[in-house]
Amino acid sequence: MVGLGGLGSAAAYWLARRGVNVVGFEQFELGHVRGASHDHSRIIRRSYHTPEYVRLTAQAYDAWRAVEAESRQRMITITGGIDLFPPGAAIDHSTYTSSLMAERVPYEWIDGAEVRRRWPAFAAGNLVTDDVMAVYSPQTGIVPAGQGTQVMQELATARGATLHGNTPVRAIRPVAGEVDIVTDDGVCRVGSVIVAADAWTSRVLQQLDIQIPLAVTREQVSYFPRSDLTGFGVGSFPVWIWMDDPSYYGFPVFGDLTAVKAAEDCGGAEVDPDRRTFEPDAGMEQRLQQFLERLLGAGFGAPRSVTCLYTLTSDRDFVLDRLPDYPQISVALGAAHGFKFASWFGRTLAGLACGEPVPDELAPFAFTRPSLHAPIDRSAWFV
Ligand SMILES: Cc1cc2nc3c(=O)[nH]c(=O)nc-3n(C[C@H](O)[C@H](O)[C@H](O)COP(=O)(O)OP(=O)(O)OC[C@H]3O[C@@H](n4cnc5c(N)ncnc54)[C@H](O)[C@@H]3O)c2cc1C
Repeated sequence: MVGLGGLGSAAAYWLARRGVNVVGFEQFELGHVRGASHDHSRIIRRSYHTPEYVRLTAQAYDAWRAVEAESRQRMITITGGIDLFPPGAAIDHSTYTSSLMAERVPYEWIDGAEVRRRWPAFAAGNLVTDDVMAVYSPQTGIVPAGQGTQVMQELATARGATLHGNTPVRAIRPVAGEVDIVTDDGVCRVGSVIVAADAWTSRVLQQLDIQIPLAVTREQVSYFPRSDLTGFGVGSFPVWIWMDDPSYYGFPVFGDLTAVKAAEDCGGAEVDPDRRTFEPDAGMEQRLQQFLERLLGAGFGAPRSVTCLYTLTSDRDFVLDRLPDYPQISVALGAAHGFKFASWFGRTLAGLACGEPVPDELAPFAFTRPSLHAPIDRSAWFV
């Protein structure tokens, strides 16, 4: 493995489960906060904009359940979730309702009045008016980013995998159907490699003269303290997503039990992953706080923010495939919505790395698909 974030750690785990000899390399310390798989929480949901994604979400839950069973730790916390569509929303609600219907996944189509009735916290704001519609998904929940990644690393190690932190891979060289992995410690020859390097994917692929357009953005999530958190706990407050441009999302109180977490989707500036900063962006915080007070009313204190990197493909679909010219090298990219699928990515990558046929369901994530090689267009990210 090149990269031991959520996806690479999952691949190490699922490969070790097969009894394969696994070695993984991470350029920073294991559990670092410089990539995309840290912090308390990530949304897991069945509601998606295509039937293919909706179908795959069933496997995403299933693959996390396997991690739960082996680790005896909870990975999925069910909260219920609402995708909120204001009139004229930038994101088309019918792609969600039709995809859920096509896959026979239960949901409710409710109006703003019903949202306020079920979750009174939204009645304190003035944004969820009666003409705002929502897809309510009872299966929506939370998976723990940092903890989930660590658990998969521990399970992989317990099954015999060797995971190296603080060991940057300087080069990967295909050699006669195998691959040489070059680090400062020397060269390691392996039968196949999984590149799960997210924001650094272009750097790794460059060595093979392969390029795909990717946008790396510096995003941030913010924790807003509140003197009274009644009505914001799991069970009385849902995961929510505002399906417009700009798009915002938030969680019930989870992990940090003193605050309400929220964030903007695709609100950050493009950065170089090695030159980015970690200070909160005051402008993003202010924008988010103003939105949050319109949505949920006043009463939020000054936030604590955590930065994180998005790696966006042109079509915001995943990359999950073997390289056409080097089938011994597989590439995985979560396109800034991959953590809910992390364990499924791992299970699928294990099959690819062991030379199994590429499942048909991966066709939308093929490396050769034309939309992946199209120029970056931000509007394609709002799906
Ligand atoms: C703010 C934010 C909110 C998100 N919310 C959600 C959500 O609600 N639901 C959801 O499903 N997804 C969400 N995502 C997306 C999700 O977190 C990512 O898709 C996922 O974490 C990507 O995992 P990864 O392992 O590919 O990337 P990373 O965790 O970044 O791992 C890549 C690793 O590769 C290492 N690496 C790179 N190059 C080298 C090298 N040469 N040698 C050795 N190591 C190397 C890096 O150091 C890094 O650790 C969110 C992301 C962010 C940033």
